[in-house]
Amino acid sequence: MLKTIKSLLLILLCQASIAYGKTQLTVTPPKDEQQRTALEFAKPIANTLITLVNEEYPLYQTLTLTLGGDDGPLFDPEQMQILIPYAFINEVQRRFRSPDAVLEKGVSVQDASRYGLIHVMLHEFGHALVFDHDIPILGKEEDAVDTFATLIMIWHQKTDHAFAAAELFALHDLEVDEFNESDFWGEHSLDAQRYASALCLIYGSDPEKYSNLINEELAGEERESYCQEEFENQSRNWERIIDMARVFKNQMK
Ligand SMILES: [Zn+2]
Repeated sequence: MLKTIKSLLLILLCQASIAYGKTQLTVTPPKDEQQRTALEFAKPIANTLITLVNEEYPLYQTLTLTLGGDDGPLFDPEQMQILIPYAFINEVQRRFRSPDAVLEKGVSVQDASRYGLIHVMLHEFGHALVFDHDIPILGKEEDAVDTFATLIMIWHQKTDHAFAAAELFALHDLEVDEFNESDFWGEHSLDAQRYASALCLIYGSDPEKYSNLINEELAGEERESYCQEEFENQSRNWERIIDMARVFKNQMK
């Protein structure tokens, strides 16, 4: 009898100690005023993202989102860490301040930078989700997690924010004078293509509302006729994956 009670206690203790991994924030102490400003700007964004992913997109392992450092933005699977350097945060703001930046009415440089940064963090979190759940990805993972980031923003009624974030790719693209072999060899699609893919999902989410996004030049390619289907297919696929993560979270409760 005593043995049985001991075994039961052990099982209960083991169950209590099983928990799904949480995403948490760490901060590298800023070294100068610029880094301090970058930290002040990015910290609330990172915290919002962490609250969202801990609630909606659970992981097996603990993930650390680190602001500061020299590398990144990237996801390091060995350390289960997302790195967002201060220099990159400043870079995003610099790009949106450039005269080439086309911002929608009512969207400030700070707003656009915030949305751009959220997209980047969601992209890196997408890599973490794929790695953590060992999700099979057919095609380029970089494209898949770009889609993940844009979809999350659309699903949370932040489609206008997703559009402003996509502008970051367009601004990167403007800085390219010519392509060389390494651009095609790189793991990411070209910035102009990343912009176009985001545009297609945004348009596809509500073709009537976003009809103004497809100008004459784009309309000539007729891609928009597939965008709604692409949005629906990609939404369904990612929802299936996310449901799987939620089932696991409920089992761990
Ligand atoms: Zn990536």
